[in-house]
Amino acid sequence: MVTRRMTRQREAILEAIRSAGGPLSVAEVHRVAGREIEGLGIATVYRNLRNLRDEGMIVAVELPGEDPRYEPVGRGHHHHFLCTECERTFDLEGCPVDVPEGATLPGGYRVRGHSLTFYGSCERCSEV
Ligand SMILES: [Zn+2]
Ligand SMILES: [Zn+2]
Repeated sequence: MVTRRMTRQREAILEAIRSAGGPLSVAEVHRVAGREIEGLGIATVYRNLRNLRDEGMIVAVELPGEDPRYEPVGRGHHHHFLCTECERTFDLEGCPVDVPEGATLPGGYRVRGHSLTFYGSCERCSEV
């Protein structure tokens, strides 16, 4: 019985992360998964996030000055938009950086990759 309940919690947490349009904070995971699992505790969320991460199901997204957010593995190359008003983070479509892997930047810097985060206000917060 205990095992079954833990499985439901884990599934709800994983589903919350998979169905989101961007990486979720612990509080967001707690809120979304909590709609499925009555009385879901924050410690349970932390524990499941740690397990899912250890098992390679999810990855932590670390943005400067922010608590880690979580997204499923395998989303491929993409970037994030952090709304500084509602503090939600969104996956962006496409990549605006026109510097291919293996390119050399002025100064002789050989590029192996890049990361990029946009800040601003999301569509909903811009409407006001
Ligand atoms: Zn917003
Ligand atoms: Zn890119």
